[in-house]
Amino acid sequence: MALTAPIDSTLEGVVWKRTLKETAVAYPPLAGEEIADLVVVGAGYCGLNVALHAAKAGQKVVLIEAGIVGNGASGRNGGYNVPHFPGPVTPSAVEGAIGKKKGRELSELVLGGADAVFRQIDAYQISCSAQQSGWIQPAHSDTSLAKVRKVFDEWKAWGADVTWLSADEVAGRLGAAGYIAGWSNPTGGTVNPYSLSIGLGRAATQEGVRIFERSPVDGIEEGPGGVTVKAGAGRVRARRAIVATNAYTGDFLPQVQRSVVPVYLYHAATRPLRPELRASILPTGLCFTDLRKSGGFGRLDEAGRLISGGAVFALGDKQAYGFAHARARMKLLFPQLTDADMQFDDYWEGYCAVTESYLPHVQRLGKEVFSVVGFSTRGVNLAQNLGRVVGEFAAGNRTLDEVPVAVIEQRRDIANWSLKVRAARLVFPLYQAKDRLGLS
Ligand SMILES: Cc1cc2nc3c(=O)[nH]c(=O)nc-3n(C[C@H](O)[C@H](O)[C@H](O)COP(=O)(O)OP(=O)(O)OC[C@H]3O[C@@H](n4cnc5c(N)ncnc54)[C@H](O)[C@@H]3O)c2cc1C
Repeated sequence: MALTAPIDSTLEGVVWKRTLKETAVAYPPLAGEEIADLVVVGAGYCGLNVALHAAKAGQKVVLIEAGIVGNGASGRNGGYNVPHFPGPVTPSAVEGAIGKKKGRELSELVLGGADAVFRQIDAYQISCSAQQSGWIQPAHSDTSLAKVRKVFDEWKAWGADVTWLSADEVAGRLGAAGYIAGWSNPTGGTVNPYSLSIGLGRAATQEGVRIFERSPVDGIEEGPGGVTVKAGAGRVRARRAIVATNAYTGDFLPQVQRSVVPVYLYHAATRPLRPELRASILPTGLCFTDLRKSGGFGRLDEAGRLISGGAVFALGDKQAYGFAHARARMKLLFPQLTDADMQFDDYWEGYCAVTESYLPHVQRLGKEVFSVVGFSTRGVNLAQNLGRVVGEFAAGNRTLDEVPVAVIEQRRDIANWSLKVRAARLVFPLYQAKDRLGLS
């Protein structure tokens, strides 16, 4: 079993590519030598935002991508733009993990982050089916109710525009069965994530970033003259480098690769739902994510496809396992669906990078070389907003103290990394059992 996430530049089976709203641009491969102030590695949400915002601040920026823009998690995620940390993580837990000052700043960033994403989409006129219809975190069990309530209470005390919802109110808004309560934040919503990636590439280019695709970086060296980033026969000399390769970091940077666990996820999209179902399932375009370990989330796309997923079970026929799980989960949440409604035209997989704290971090790889990874399932918000902040740091307009995440100065691998990576691909049935027993 390979431990490195394969980079699939065709985005095989991804509905977002089939329904792309922006015009994809083919950027050239890196050849010869380029000179820049900043070189960014990886053209997902994070790298694109680092590059865009550093260029906006006057830096000469080169962005190098192994495959094509958005072919990592950014082009293949669920497109939920969520103004909250992963699952049960609370602002106070974040302060506990990274200290009071940075914790408060990160909570501010996350709380305002979904809205900031929509505002940036507007500012660059990115065509990505953006819908700020709100997001709900519902409770599916007594165990999850206590956690969901705690999250809500903390955001409410923070002054956030959040609303507690009874079981009937959740059912009314989602059209879903079985939830016992929940809370909502109106600033969340959905996007077509691949269109957003392509639009960010256009916006970065507009700000002066030079993008190179199909150029896997295979070496980073630092000397008295600055940083040299190599990709095959091409190289970029710069003052500073930022690595934003997240779960797709290959063996060339083991200290970055092993600071996160790549978690293997799938998504499946139904055919567009019948009009009668559109009236009862997520009728106002809300999206939701619950605390089920095996995935409990749903959204519609522009055409009314219902999209959900979970973790890939990496033994046997992964797609058949995924379809069976998606069908069972959709039927549980929306009993009004018939088997005929749950025909899937699209199934795809991807990797997201999870850290032990569920929070991203910056790692110093050299005097002027840094990585920023670990966005869990909150990259639409966090990878973009933290990317902006790191872009401002890279441009010299912020210090590292003003980047609101832990900064790792020495290599710190996750203990038993190889074992955890393998285990992460096999534990899905266990998560399903935990959910069935009401333990999540
Ligand atoms: C199936 C799935 C569903 C998800 N759903 C959601 C969701 O609904 N909402 C949400 O907020 N988050 C979601 N996430 C998480 C989210 O997609 C990620 O957190 C986010 O996209 C990370 O962005 P990134 O830029 O850090 O990394 P990526 O988008 O993965 O980009 C990293 C890039 O680095 C490139 N790269 C790797 N190695 C090299 C190299 N050597 N040289 C050059 N380039 C290199 C890769 O090709 C890739 O393009 C989901 C993730 C998955 C997989």
